[in-house]
Amino acid sequence: MDLIACHDCDLLYHQPSIAEGRKLRCPRCGAVLLQHRHDCVERCLMLVLAALILFTVANAYPLLSLDLQGREQDTLLITGVIELYRQNQAGLAVLVLCVSILLPLIKLLSQLYVLLPLYFGWRGWRLPVAMRIVDILHPWAMMEVYMLGILVAIVKLASLASIVPDAALYAFAALIMVMAATDASLEPHDIWERLSKTR
Ligand SMILES: [Zn+2]
Repeated sequence: MDLIACHDCDLLYHQPSIAEGRKLRCPRCGAVLLQHRHDCVERCLMLVLAALILFTVANAYPLLSLDLQGREQDTLLITGVIELYRQNQAGLAVLVLCVSILLPLIKLLSQLYVLLPLYFGWRGWRLPVAMRIVDILHPWAMMEVYMLGILVAIVKLASLASIVPDAALYAFAALIMVMAATDASLEPHDIWERLSKTR
C-alpha cells in the first residue's frame, strides 16, 4: 500500500483505494488530497487543444477597434507590450510579454507534450521534466490580470472613443476560462501515476 502525505498539514498515512470520481480527503485537516478520474488525460488533452486554438485566434486577430475622432485603430494583444517598450518601460514590457503571452504558451505546449504521449500510449522523452515545467509555470501564467487591464482601459476610454470589441477579445476571455478548466481537470496524481507506468 502506498503512503500519501497531506500537502496542507503534512500528515503521512496509508493511501486507501478510492472509487472512480470520488475524492480522498485528509482525515486530519480535510484537504482534498486527490480525486480519481479515469478520463483525466482525455479531458485535459481536449481542453489543451481548444486552448491552443483560442490562443492562436487571441494573438492573431485584433482585440479592439478604437475610433477616436475619425481615426480608427486596431489593437492586438501584443500592442500593449510594444507601447510599453516605446514609452521606455522595457522591463515592464518584457514582464507583460512573459506573463500574458510567452509563459501561458509554454505552459500549454508543455501540457500538450505530456498529454499526447499518455493519450496515444507512446514512450515520450523527458515527460516528467515537462510535467515539472507545467507545475512551475502554474502561478506565472497571468492572463486574467491582462484581461482586467483591458477591461479597465475600455471603461476609461469609453467616454473618449467608440470601442468595438473584436473576435480576439472573446477568444482571449474563452482562453482564460478553458485554461482554468484545464487546471481544474488536471489531476497531478493521476498524471504522475500514468507517467510512471509508461517508463
Ligand atoms: Zn491534512
